[in-house]
Amino acid sequence: MKNPFPTLAAQTLVLLGGGHSHLAVLMQLAKQPVPGLDIVLVTRDVETPYSGALPAWINGDCATDDLLIDLRPLAQMAGARLIRATVEKMDLQNRTLHCAGRPAIGFDILSINIGSWPDVAAIPGAEQFAIPVKPIPEFLKHWESIQQEVDSAVSEQRPYTITIIGGGPASVELACAMQMRLYRNAGLPLPDRLGQESFIRIVLMTNGSVLLSALNPGAQARALCTLRSRGIDVRLQHSVRSVEQNAVLWETTGTSTVESLQTDRILVATGASAPDWLQHTGLTLDAGGFILVNNHLQSVSHANVFATGDIASIENCPRPRSGVYAVRQGMPLARNLRRFATGIPLQSYNPQAHVLALLNLGDGTAIAARGNWSLQGRWAGVWKKWIDQRFVEKYSRIPAPVERSFSAGSRSSSLRCAGCGAKVGSTMLHDVLAQLHPCTHPDILSAHMSTEDAAMIRIDERRTLLQTVDHFRAFINDPYLFARIATVHCLSDIHAMGATAHSALAIVSVPHAAPRIMQSMLLEIMSGCTEVLNAHNTALIGGHSSEAQELSFGLSVNGFVEPDRILTKRGMQPGDVLILCKPLGTGTLFAADMRYQAKQRWIENALTHMQHSNQMASHCFVRHGANACTDITGFGLLGHLSEMLTPDAVRVVLSLNALPILDGALECVAGGYLSSLQEDNARHAALLTNAEQFHPKQLNKQPLYHLLFDPQTAGGLLASVPARNAAACLADLHAAGYRNAASIGEVLSTGGESAAVGLRE
Ligand SMILES: Cc1cc2nc3c(=O)[nH]c(=O)nc-3n(C[C@H](O)[C@H](O)[C@H](O)COP(=O)(O)OP(=O)(O)OC[C@H]3O[C@@H](n4cnc5c(N)ncnc54)[C@H](O)[C@@H]3O)c2cc1C
Repeated sequence: MKNPFPTLAAQTLVLLGGGHSHLAVLMQLAKQPVPGLDIVLVTRDVETPYSGALPAWINGDCATDDLLIDLRPLAQMAGARLIRATVEKMDLQNRTLHCAGRPAIGFDILSINIGSWPDVAAIPGAEQFAIPVKPIPEFLKHWESIQQEVDSAVSEQRPYTITIIGGGPASVELACAMQMRLYRNAGLPLPDRLGQESFIRIVLMTNGSVLLSALNPGAQARALCTLRSRGIDVRLQHSVRSVEQNAVLWETTGTSTVESLQTDRILVATGASAPDWLQHTGLTLDAGGFILVNNHLQSVSHANVFATGDIASIENCPRPRSGVYAVRQGMPLARNLRRFATGIPLQSYNPQAHVLALLNLGDGTAIAARGNWSLQGRWAGVWKKWIDQRFVEKYSRIPAPVERSFSAGSRSSSLRCAGCGAKVGSTMLHDVLAQLHPCTHPDILSAHMSTEDAAMIRIDERRTLLQTVDHFRAFINDPYLFARIATVHCLSDIHAMGATAHSALAIVSVPHAAPRIMQSMLLEIMSGCTEVLNAHNTALIGGHSSEAQELSFGLSVNGFVEPDRILTKRGMQPGDVLILCKPLGTGTLFAADMRYQAKQRWIENALTHMQHSNQMASHCFVRHGANACTDITGFGLLGHLSEMLTPDAVRVVLSLNALPILDGALECVAGGYLSSLQEDNARHAALLTNAEQFHPKQLNKQPLYHLLFDPQTAGGLLASVPARNAAACLADLHAAGYRNAASIGEVLSTGGESAAVGLRE
């Protein structure tokens, strides 16, 4: 990960929306960073759909990875902070964006590329009974259920009608793609004329007298002829008045007799609309509510605000809202954002009057239209597919940064991990501590070399004070989320000992930057921390803050527990079952993320697990009589298990296939992305009695084995639970939301031998 918090950041550029233009902006900022520019990408969808490929995806001709562009690697490469959130309000005076559930996001320069939506509000009933085709991620979910409904209708020999409202390119392409897919799913031949009896009926309704009014008459005629020849019921001059459950109420354009069409599903692909909240921003908008920009793509009312794509209207230069224009505006936008940030005069951009339109007809052919000409054929279909694939590939295949590799076969070292992957290795720590001779006091219950999760100080007969401290560098570039996870992590030592957290002191280092940027980062961190502490009824009672090269954060946490209820690492009993409450894999996932190779969906899932506190798991383990417990953090599963083994001299058999694993972790290990702490953690392999059976030379042969040594940030609790309670304990953990909690092994007697761990499949 590039340093996401460049020192001396002087201004913040917020890219709002992961639309087509911002792809080029991120790419350009990665290729040529602007010194002192702190970049933030705020977007509702991180896997942003490339609309040009949507018909091919519906039709089944294109994989999901060729439809969705993952913005995460791109943002990582550009050194941009990625915030997945929906902006609901904008305060241009105070230069802040507001999203539900997180602190305001400050900016100096704002670039808006949030797309548009079919104007659903213009059709009474549509918000309740119809499906808009945008936002596309929402539409994709509906498409799954539509297919299931059609499948059951066909199997019951019941007709099924889909009505698409709209007569533009999106409606035409959707009608063709859906028809092809649904007929193929059902194993039915396509109808070859309108009116032919069929179970699956597609109706396209538009108030215009032609289809594709923005294209030339040749293209319009080709589309109409193709759709009708395939039995798609195109209804021109049908003005939709309203929709109801399973009915479209329409009248012939210019008349007032309302008629009704019964239908199973209604899709809306009508003209674009902009979000209402833009009306309250003070930005100058056009009559349709879109942001009015000059030919620098700069708001006509606010010089520090830029807008492109569907959401923008260029003054005195009307153009249709299409992805082609949004794509073309990417490079001029990137240039002007750079110029604006560095005080250089902006460059003019004049959009082409005509662009090439390629309409996918779903059968491998396409209509090509530009200006006054149009053609149709298979070659146009191949051309469109090639253009679309090239576009998605350009932004999806992000090369890993060049780095030195210190160990053969892995890319584990020259980029140092953050989070708990930045812990000092256990061997080094042990060696250093062994050379120290700190004084002690009678009320200190934990020895100097204790490996317990927290230090123990006796307060009185009924109370023991637990104290712990954790502190690490940011491993993600969202300060708010980082602080939430770091807080969960810091509290975990207290939870591992079956105690209740009481209060905490914070240690925070913020990169030196312009005062407004530092203040906003500090606010985000402390808001994230306080929210989590409050949810644990734990008071923030003080701390220390400083300037530094990098963002880091930690807490010293105090907790209390009754002396006879302390859960320690000691105490595993033969016959116990080992239960791990959270999945493994954060080390490898974030090692891959640093190299721009992790998918957003993997990281997002990992971040969700990492925010899950161990508090409830702790209660659960105490309730079910756990004999020993620890939390899995920097030293990995085997490293922390070794700390439980040493005093008790028991044998453990771990079931590799039972280990709960985070999505994507196996792929990341197999790809050779290992944490920089992995090598040190792997020394614990000495404990394994049969490592040779499972330790292959190539990482991709047995990735599970390597996850034994993967350092975890905010990892789960590992507890040794009496076998008789194990099933109930697991059921309780699942009910408490630890859905991946699993029994991962058994504790056995050593029979006099030394402590050891055996592996089985
Ligand atoms: C079925 C279909 C097929 C199409 N086919 C084509 C085609 O072949 N060629 C073509 O040129 N055009 C096509 N279009 C039109 C095309 O979809 C749009 O013109 C294009 O997507 C607009 O791009 P954009 O960059 O403005 O925004 P979008 O691509 O829509 O991206 C907007 C981004 O902003 C984010 N966002 C939105 N609101 C917020 C918010 N409040 N806070 C944070 N983030 C937000 C979204 O998550 C998204 O990442 C098609 C449209 C449809 C529906």
